[in-house]
Amino acid sequence: MTQMELTEVFIREALRQTGCLVCHICRESVSRYLRFLLHEHVNDVTTRLRISLSLGFCRQHSWQLLNMEEDHWIIPLGTSIIYEDLLNQVIHQIQAALSAMSAQNKQGDRLRLLDCVRRWTQIPDEREQHFLEPSRTCRVCESSYETAQHVGYVILRMLGDADIQKMYSKSDGVCLPHLRLCLTLADTGPGILFLINNTVERLRVLQHDLNEFKRKQHWHHRDEETTESEKTAARRVIAFFVGENE
Ligand SMILES: [Zn+2]
Ligand SMILES: [Zn+2]
Repeated sequence: MTQMELTEVFIREALRQTGCLVCHICRESVSRYLRFLLHEHVNDVTTRLRISLSLGFCRQHSWQLLNMEEDHWIIPLGTSIIYEDLLNQVIHQIQAALSAMSAQNKQGDRLRLLDCVRRWTQIPDEREQHFLEPSRTCRVCESSYETAQHVGYVILRMLGDADIQKMYSKSDGVCLPHLRLCLTLADTGPGILFLINNTVERLRVLQHDLNEFKRKQHWHHRDEETTESEKTAARRVIAFFVGENE
């Protein structure tokens, strides 16, 4: 099975789930990435070098890594190995900065620590070094974005097909961040036209639900029953604007 065919299978499966289908596939892909890392790649040199460039993962994915390892293996050994190495990196940078500051002080210059660091990082072979700052973004975020791009590309192609359009219409569609991504990927084919028209229809329904929910909070209308769709409207509108809650 090619990568494209596999993605089509993931999309068909995601269309049956609740929430944005791209968020759903990205979430699954992140889980697979972290599981694979913990299973096979904790001691892989290239992987560790990439992780060190971003000083570990972002807040969300660092906690996800730890929670996943504790849930599955009880003992967070892989997380400890990865982050112990990163601690060495941070300690080394701080010590080098302190040495630079001490050298400046001996010369009688009383500079702020960060000014010393700035001088220190001007040394040619250290020029690329960032002081306590990641030089790359979180690898998991980066990988998730690559997945979203690929899914966006494939879904636009699939949405040219009437059967997929029917399936898509019954799903929760895509969130705004992933709609924006699709728009950057799209040519003017039938897939993108369907996606835009369908999104506008969904947003009108959502707008109506929000409006009705608000209206029924007034004591004049207190006897009118709030529908399930109206009750979930606030949650759905947030999910549309920022994507699914991870
Ligand atoms: Zn999304
Ligand atoms: Zn991340």
